[in-house]
Amino acid sequence: AKEEGKGTYVLYDKSMHTAFNERMNIEKHLRGALGNQEFELHYQPQVDIRSGMISGFEALIRWNNPVLGFVSPLSFIKVAEDSRLIIDIGEWVLREACLFMKQVNERMLYPYKISVNISIIQMLQEDFTEMVLDSLAVSGLVPSLLELEITESVFMKSFGSIVSKLEFLKSQGIRIALDDFGTGYSSLGYLQQLPISTLKMDKTFIDSLSEKDYSQAFVQTIIQLGHNMGLEVVAEGVEDSGQLAFLKESGCDKVQGYLVSKPLPESGVNVLLAQRKQY
Ligand code: C2E
Ligand code: CA
Ligand code: CA
Ligand code: CA
Repeated sequence: AKEEGKGTYVLYDKSMHTAFNERMNIEKHLRGALGNQEFELHYQPQVDIRSGMISGFEALIRWNNPVLGFVSPLSFIKVAEDSRLIIDIGEWVLREACLFMKQVNERMLYPYKISVNISIIQMLQEDFTEMVLDSLAVSGLVPSLLELEITESVFMKSFGSIVSKLEFLKSQGIRIALDDFGTGYSSLGYLQQLPISTLKMDKTFIDSLSEKDYSQAFVQTIIQLGHNMGLEVVAEGVEDSGQLAFLKESGCDKVQGYLVSKPLPESGVNVLLAQRKQY
């Protein structure tokens, strides 16, 4: 039942009932997923626009459950956060991603960076910064090759404590990216207070490039804003060469999207890097 005020319950409609059951069902199967090794990481390349070369990858979790089949992170990350299962899942993601990137770099002339999505629930953990440093130490990856991706929503809760944790990690050489930039509700004022190194411009801005005439100005303004603040600007969800050409002309630093590649399993990363392709 839906709680409406204190002690008052109203009848829910069928769709709410279904959504609730679905979340319960996901949570039930999510509990054993880590222990049963149902997760895998896929890696999506980021390309440095100036050189046209792959500079790093974003780690994206994949879940294949024997009963539910493949479940999108869009359907289970929120459930994992609400149930706090994200603490262990997120730690596994970080450790696995650092280990894989160290392995890849061992065979490469130039080292690739790895970006990892971090939930606010993880950051609120007392031992969050130690967990991050330990993941690096165990893997042997240097801090400057790790970037943590956080969203603006992080700063609406516990702003102070999270900012100081991120400042500490940044002081250790780890990079911090603000993900889905432009979709949050926060004002631009808070940007100056954040210890970030990178702006990830949300896909919706890239999608609108071909549709709305003011959207080009909008994208260029975000790139300039980022550069004026000394930040690197990454465009997400780049799907066609027209978008890439515009972003290149506008001075955007990096692109990520299906134009370059979908997220790939480990084997796919090795095949892609062996091609040494210039985009
Ligand atoms: P995100 O961090 O914004 O990740 C980008 C999403 O856009 C990924 O979806 C990626 O596959 C998709 N994408 C990339 N390029 C394109 C493109 O050109 N076109 C289109 N249509 N989509 C593109 P994915 O992997 O389904 O992940 C969805 C979201 O789930 C992520 O959004 C992130 O918020 C969350 N997520 C994924 N993995 C993790 C994780 O390990 N930890 C946490 N906390 N969240 C994660
Ligand atoms: Ca592995
Ligand atoms: Ca991300
Ligand atoms: Ca994003």
